[in-house]
Amino acid sequence: MMDAEVFRAWITSAAEVIQANRDHLTQLDAAIGDADHGINLARGFTAVLGALEARDSGAAPATPGRVLILTGNTIISTVGGAAGPLYGMAFRRAGKSLGDAADVDLPALSAALEAALAGVQKLGAAVEGDKTMVDALAAGARAFSKALAEGAAPDDALSALAEAAASASAATIPMRALKGRASYLGPRSVGHQDPGAASTALILAALRDTARTR
Ligand code: ADP
Ligand code: MG
Repeated sequence: MMDAEVFRAWITSAAEVIQANRDHLTQLDAAIGDADHGINLARGFTAVLGALEARDSGAAPATPGRVLILTGNTIISTVGGAAGPLYGMAFRRAGKSLGDAADVDLPALSAALEAALAGVQKLGAAVEGDKTMVDALAAGARAFSKALAEGAAPDDALSALAEAAASASAATIPMRALKGRASYLGPRSVGHQDPGAASTALILAALRDTARTR
């Protein structure tokens, strides 16, 4: 079971890993975009940490759902470009899916990941194979739900989630981008990893690392 504290720990860990990979993500975006993805996300997650802390003085988000909705709202208001609204939508939809529950089990987490994916696809209209964050999120969500359906141990299901997202992110390298700024490059987008898929894989790895120690 994951409570609000675990979700805060996940978001804090995600912020750290995004910060640590800021230049790497920006370099990926330099190859097929406008070299701002790491900078954008690092700024957004720094603001998220500030928002989570500000709420410490009296009004800490009391449920997992509130933690994720605050995360999404803060990303929307601080990150521009394509990724800001898309990640904002993902976290808000995931938070909404969790409802008012004080504790979240793995099936509820799986449903939240599916809700995040649906939100991203509704907003951005990308499908798997378009070389976007959808590739990593869809593969991760699917692997997680499959592992749970097969009765995998929690740690194994969380590893399946993170590993599928990482593989799908790597698998964007030979793809041609069909959505987002990278699609303007046409065939010249081939041979580079999608920055949004890479950041999604990092955020889901942080989820595995946080949740499996509980
Ligand atoms: P921008 O492209 O506006 O500079 P970022 O560089 O922060 O924004 O984010 C780029 C990432 O956003 C891409 O690598 C891709 O994963 C994701 N992205 C762009 N457009 C879409 C879309 N329509 N659907 C899903 N993801 C998208
Ligand atoms: Mg960019």
